[in-house]
Amino acid sequence: MKVTEMWKKKPPTISFEFFPARNAEAAEKLERVIDQLAITEPDFVSVTFGAGGSTRDGSRQLIDRLKNDLKLEVMAYFAGYGLGPDDIQGVMDSYLDLGVDNVLVVRGDPPHGQPDFKPHPASLVHASDMLEFIRPRYNFCLGAAGYPEGHIEAESKPKDLEYLKLKVDKGAEYIITNYFYDNRYYFDFVATCRRLGLKVPIVPGIMPIFSLKMMNHLAKLCGASISGDLRSRLAALPEGDIPALLNFGIDFAFEQCKELIVAGAPGLHFYTMDRSQSTTGVLARLRQEGLI
Ligand SMILES: Cc1cc2nc3c(=O)[nH]c(=O)nc-3n(C[C@H](O)[C@H](O)[C@H](O)COP(=O)(O)OP(=O)(O)OC[C@H]3O[C@@H](n4cnc5c(N)ncnc54)[C@H](O)[C@@H]3O)c2cc1C
Repeated sequence: MKVTEMWKKKPPTISFEFFPARNAEAAEKLERVIDQLAITEPDFVSVTFGAGGSTRDGSRQLIDRLKNDLKLEVMAYFAGYGLGPDDIQGVMDSYLDLGVDNVLVVRGDPPHGQPDFKPHPASLVHASDMLEFIRPRYNFCLGAAGYPEGHIEAESKPKDLEYLKLKVDKGAEYIITNYFYDNRYYFDFVATCRRLGLKVPIVPGIMPIFSLKMMNHLAKLCGASISGDLRSRLAALPEGDIPALLNFGIDFAFEQCKELIVAGAPGLHFYTMDRSQSTTGVLARLRQEGLI
């Protein structure tokens, strides 16, 4: 089923992002996580794709497991950085074979730890170019990534939004956002997109805090700002108390989700980091309050 149909029928949708396991131990853990999250009956799940094709097989296997064994609706990601037209078609054909209806197209970044990686000479530069290539060839329900705080490399926020509009003009039917810790970024972003004439659903990404190290690392990598107030609240927690941090992360994400739903967000897309506890904690609170 196309996700755009879901947003017409039943907002807010609940969805989870997974990434393919890197080894056998992680694969076993991921199976348990998927079991724990599948029982919450998400509207769809998504699977990341390592830029440069680095997780091509792992992504395909995970999509197959989720879609065809567990019968979950899947949004397959595609990160086209460095890939030539034949590679792009190869991945899209494999998604078609797996029965995928929804594909989120991102540019991706140069693959980590592969200093010798050479982009294909005919590789496409931006996600908008990839969407333009895929749109006339496949009937997927295509989406793109959006950045409420601006993409980390963006020349400026207005330029970033101009390019976001280009992604929609080239075929993106919905936007999934990077996560943020202050809903005002999302609300301002949506308001500006609407002013620019973007009518597609804009689904907020949610990343519950579960580790300070990971929070700081990811925030630097993808430009999610951490306010002074959030830092003080985190600093007030007992040092090294992991359950206290987890509970704080659940409370904080719950408050964010509650405000987003009340304001009419079409869905909540959880960056699970292949963990279940925080996401199930937030969902339980939302259910308790009758918000989902
Ligand atoms: C929901 C979501 C899912 C993601 N999934 C994955 C994944 O599975 N695998 C992965 O590797 N990464 C993933 N990413 C990360 C993403 O690949 C990076 O953020 C990447 O740096 C940018 O991707 P993009 O599609 O936004 O690129 P683009 O839209 O190409 O934008 C990249 C930069 O170029 C600028 N730009 C865009 N178009 C143009 C243009 N035509 N001319 C000049 N400048 C332009 C933009 O302002 C921006 O600064 C995901 C991100 C999100 C938010």
